Amino acid sequence: MSTLRFQALKETLHRKPVIVTETERRSVLFGNNVFNQTTMLQYLTKDAYSSVMDAIEHGSKIDRKIADQISSAMKEWALSKGVTHYTHWFQPLTGATAEKHDAFFETIGNGQAIEKFGGGQLVQQEPDASSFPNGGIRNTFEARGYTAWDPTSPAFIYGTTLCIPTVFVAYTGEALDYKTPLLRALQAVDNAATAVAKYFDKNVKKVNASLGWEQEYFLIDSALAYSRPDIVMTGRTLLGHSAAKGQQLDDHYFGSIPTRALDYMRDLETECMLLGIPVKTRHNEVAPNQFELAPIFEETNLAVDHNSLLMDVMDKVAARHHLTVLLHEKPFAGVNGSGKHNNWSLATNTGVNLLGPGKTPMSNLQFLTFFINTIKAINENEELMRAGIASASNDHRLGANEAPPAIMSVFIGEQLTAVLKELEGVTNGKLSPQEKTDLKLNVVGKIPEILLDNTDRNRTSPFAFTGNKFEFRAVGSKANCANPMTILNTIVAKQLVDFKKEVDALIDKKGLKKDEAIFNVLREYIKQSKNILFEGNGYGEEWEKEAKKRGLSNNKTTPEALKAKVSKKNLELFEQMGVMNKVEAEARYEIEVEEYVLRIQIEGRVLGDIARNHVIPTAIRYQNMLINNVSGLKELYGKDFKKYAKEQMEIIEEISGHIGKINAKVSEMTEARKKANKLEDLEKKASSYCDKVKPLFDEIRYSCDKLELLVDDELWPLTKYRELLFTR
Ligand code: ADP
Ligand code: MG
Repeated sequence: MSTLRFQALKETLHRKPVIVTETERRSVLFGNNVFNQTTMLQYLTKDAYSSVMDAIEHGSKIDRKIADQISSAMKEWALSKGVTHYTHWFQPLTGATAEKHDAFFETIGNGQAIEKFGGGQLVQQEPDASSFPNGGIRNTFEARGYTAWDPTSPAFIYGTTLCIPTVFVAYTGEALDYKTPLLRALQAVDNAATAVAKYFDKNVKKVNASLGWEQEYFLIDSALAYSRPDIVMTGRTLLGHSAAKGQQLDDHYFGSIPTRALDYMRDLETECMLLGIPVKTRHNEVAPNQFELAPIFEETNLAVDHNSLLMDVMDKVAARHHLTVLLHEKPFAGVNGSGKHNNWSLATNTGVNLLGPGKTPMSNLQFLTFFINTIKAINENEELMRAGIASASNDHRLGANEAPPAIMSVFIGEQLTAVLKELEGVTNGKLSPQEKTDLKLNVVGKIPEILLDNTDRNRTSPFAFTGNKFEFRAVGSKANCANPMTILNTIVAKQLVDFKKEVDALIDKKGLKKDEAIFNVLREYIKQSKNILFEGNGYGEEWEKEAKKRGLSNNKTTPEALKAKVSKKNLELFEQMGVMNKVEAEARYEIEVEEYVLRIQIEGRVLGDIARNHVIPTAIRYQNMLINNVSGLKELYGKDFKKYAKEQMEIIEEISGHIGKINAKVSEMTEARKKANKLEDLEKKASSYCDKVKPLFDEIRYSCDKLELLVDDELWPLTKYRELLFTR
């Protein structure tokens, strides 16, 4: 074993367990480091408290004087917990979180100092953000960016820093982050869904979109992870032969959680509790060393912040345990990759889940209204939904027979399929009293509160109805949920606006009763949305053919998929719903295409480096050993030597063959990169990286992996899959 590999393994063997003791009940720890309602009641004046609550509930502005009170209360609270710094915490278009810490500490002359945190510092900051991607926004407008407090997501303490969730916008108003368009989309869906929910209950004042994400990840000992330049630089292995054993025995999924992983999880969960992230579920996933963590669902903006924060906290807690968290969608070939299911629904301020079947025919008609409108929204915006989850890393997963395909479809289960079939037969126009009664009693009235399909799920569907929510399963594990959630909530908002117009028109112009009008519109929607419904195996080849016939898109790569974000139709959609103007949408597109290019470029460089500087020299060393052996045999046996050296000579040739191929393909790849880099047009550059550069990765890898099997294990420098995946 090479020295590096040996030392890495030795280090993992000598790990001392990190003992995690939970001293308090979780319910006691929960939210302790959050400036939440309980804390606010304790620290704020009545006026300040109701002002914040008003801002949270109705989006009202907070007066500057009140802001001063709030900031000083926040400071008192933070100081009582040993905090020294504060930061505006935001999500620039890198997808990660950003922070710049400032101390409360300020000098006041005479060699004296105090702790200070004013309302101005709470409400607005101007980070020197010129190095964040902006897709040309700030160049165009020559404007600077600033961060502004988002009171709907509570401030929290992480370590010794008070973090204030903020939006990040240009002075000209354009959003420079992921949060701003999300907040606008949530506002749009709130408005549209509230208007529709009022058909059923006049008391509905607000609709919140909820999100429950499920985070999948790999845990690798950090000494092993650091021994692999590809993991360090790209978050995934670019080469490595599959271990003899992978996930074929299904012995990891839901298995007993390995002790080290469990210690990590408990430590992580304690941090989550303090931060108010309501984590609830943990288990082993399908691939070895792969795990999942899921919280109780929350309002979407908060849930997105919590997931972004979690990804950061996961990393930090892992360091204490000498573990490395891999959030990449496909860290290892040959075993499952990771995703982040986004469970989504709509809930009213009156406590009703609009996507949950109810007890009465009327509540079920309400359910069907939101259910069918969602299906129609997906049908009409399937390409945009695909665009919302596109990334270089997620491309490895979609359509790779372990995750949903790149084709969007909706699974609703047998029972609801039958209900839609019945509704499709509803008479055009006015309904007879008999038909109305029939519909209410025998169709709508018969939807059970608990659907059987809730347990009988189709895991191959990218967008599945699971009893009282839809589950968007194609989201990538390292993605910022804001992107797909902005899209989903925007398209549903738009759909609900259209629906309301159509229903109102039938009531006003055709004199239909409200429920008749609703039945009529839903009937048409069912007819129009059939193409998106699919109950079969989403991994099968037949579905690809069938989907093509149905006219569904199948954008397999990111450069192809992203284009939907800037189609005329979708630019108009974002603009119309007040989510993003053209400049903002185009900027995001540009940033995402560029990120794709950069990711593939980095991977190409790293792979070239490993192939030439690690693999080839090692192969040559081993080949020399064989050559020595053959020469020795020749000395010993004279011209008879071939009898004894035949196999060795074959291996020598095989090695030369692979070395030749690797060298040629790395040169070819470098040339392809150079060509791509020369392209001025960003879209063309991305396509070139996708079609000309990336395919060479597989060819280079193939020969490297073959060499891994040939070369003496003592010499092989790169930590092997069996070590990465099965060391606990
Ligand atoms: P599974 O892995 O079987 O899909 P999990 O329990 O791991 O289920 O995750 C389900 C997720 O769905 C949880 O985060 C849960 O809080 C969330 N969820 C449940 N009900 C809703 C809802 N009405 N809206 C949004 N998310 C929900
Ligand atoms: Mg799930």
